[in-house]
Amino acid sequence: MKQTATFIPTLRETPADADVKSHQLLLRGGFIRQNTSGIYSFLPLGKRVLQKVETIIREEMEAAGSVEVFLPALQQAELWQETGRWYSYGDELMRLTDRNDRAFALGATHEEVITSLLRDEIKSYKKLPLNLFQIQSKFRDEKRPRFGLLRGREFLMKDAYSFHATPESLDETYNVMMQAYTNIFTRLGLNFRAVIADSGAIGGKDNHEFMVLSEIGEDTIAYSDSSGYAANIEMAAVNVDYPKSDEAPKEMEKVATPDQKTIADVAAFLNTTPEKCIKTLVFKTDDDLVVVLARGDHDINDVKVKHATGAKIVELAAPEEVQELLNCEIGSLGPIGLPPAVRVYADNAVKAIVNGVVGANENGQHLANVTPGKDFSVDTYADLRFIQEGDPSPDGEGRIQFAKGIEVGHIFKLGTTYSVPMKATFLNDQGRAMPYIMGCYGIGVSRVMAAVAEQFQDDAGFTWPDVIAPYEIHIVPVNMKDEPQRELGEDLYKLLKSYRYEVLLDDRAERAGVKFADADLIGMPVRITVGKKASEGILEVKYRRTGETFEWKREELLDHLQ
Ligand code: ATP
Ligand code: MG
Ligand code: MG
Ligand code: MG
Repeated sequence: MKQTATFIPTLRETPADADVKSHQLLLRGGFIRQNTSGIYSFLPLGKRVLQKVETIIREEMEAAGSVEVFLPALQQAELWQETGRWYSYGDELMRLTDRNDRAFALGATHEEVITSLLRDEIKSYKKLPLNLFQIQSKFRDEKRPRFGLLRGREFLMKDAYSFHATPESLDETYNVMMQAYTNIFTRLGLNFRAVIADSGAIGGKDNHEFMVLSEIGEDTIAYSDSSGYAANIEMAAVNVDYPKSDEAPKEMEKVATPDQKTIADVAAFLNTTPEKCIKTLVFKTDDDLVVVLARGDHDINDVKVKHATGAKIVELAAPEEVQELLNCEIGSLGPIGLPPAVRVYADNAVKAIVNGVVGANENGQHLANVTPGKDFSVDTYADLRFIQEGDPSPDGEGRIQFAKGIEVGHIFKLGTTYSVPMKATFLNDQGRAMPYIMGCYGIGVSRVMAAVAEQFQDDAGFTWPDVIAPYEIHIVPVNMKDEPQRELGEDLYKLLKSYRYEVLLDDRAERAGVKFADADLIGMPVRITVGKKASEGILEVKYRRTGETFEWKREELLDHLQ
């Protein structure tokens, strides 16, 4: 590609509204532009990177036996109503109506669509298992779209869904997907970890997030310094084997009384230190449960609850407000099955994201929906504590350390969560109708691109890994007005393209300083500078990541290029 024929609008200054390095450089290098909050256009260079990320994902998914489809982004509300997510998903779901006032959602995810597709088509266990994936824009009205592509409101996701007749078959595919994800992120050169992102009650092995280790990550990973253990801290809370002791309350209601407002109160009651306990208030409504958690010496009154009630998300400040709004009582205490989309925040102290379920029975049904409140017990209460640095690792090996991570992928055993309410069944080998057992597997394609951009850069610009650099080679004739330079530049361009290299030729009539600065900024792995020695057929090759520089003759070039 000739630079005069493409569109690479580089910027000298760092845009003021971009606060992380990847976002700054993606804007400065002319890879992306923001349309409005959380919504981006991909310019030619950005599109090429994105496409290469897609290709790696596609290759590994196909190698793992997943087959590509393309599902609609525009989804009728009825599908979401079948599973109840129309009401529980909250404000993140973009909703709209057609000319006949029929309600639709823009796909935030595709479990409903794919389950409805399969239920009409696959009726026999003989056609299972099946694993389908797509790469498509997703729409989520994020409360805080930020860090550029890392948290957008329209973003590209690879999502896969698998369908099985038996839990063993799901286990098998889950492990294959785990390996495929490991391959993908390894090929991308990312420094990542697969972490347990599960409540723990079902073994903690049925839900993994893939985290890229990064200071700007919004998630915290708790990992052992001497074993393979790693978990999302929010989930690590319930994995800790906190000694089940006499310290736990004998009568739960006592702890949950409104007059025990602070963790200090609870600590005094339990005869322990505030750091060692967690105050949990459970509010019950007819059909819902809300849990408020606070840690350490934090005042429970500062806890903010964000709870999805029906289609509405409500921001609340204090338990009293929750009570009033939900017209509920302060109930019991303890970790229980929770409704989806309950997020709990306490200023500066706690950020707990409770994942919807604590347990599932062997049919994959949520305990919470089966027997609400069943798990209200002293034992489970004693298990609930936020993990801290220096704690013994739950697997018994080493101590816990924290690290920041960017969630780039998420794999999940859904069980029959979607197939039961959607009545998506197949006939098993005894001719009985059974709900599909499902798994789902997501990767944030555009987020991955930003995560790579965050990791591969230096003071001058990007240092893209070869596998996703927009072009492999950047030819920079220093002075396009100089005949030998221009000719050698164009000659090399043709030569390298004929050898199937992806080449960008800087044929602009810019000053040398501008050209070099731009070349460093956009960061192709190999730069070939054609300068004063062009008349002797000599060029300079510079490797962007190492800075190594060589002077080679034109004839030597192909042999030398690594
Ligand atoms: P997060 O915790 O960051 O909000 P999530 O858990 O809501 O992400 P999933 O529903 O698990 O996301 O979606 C699968 C993948 O899609 C995530 O692992 C992530 O890589 C990506 N993703 C999710 N939300 C966004 C977003 N707003 N912008 C870009 N990528 C996203
Ligand atoms: Mg999210
Ligand atoms: Mg997440
Ligand atoms: Mg996730």
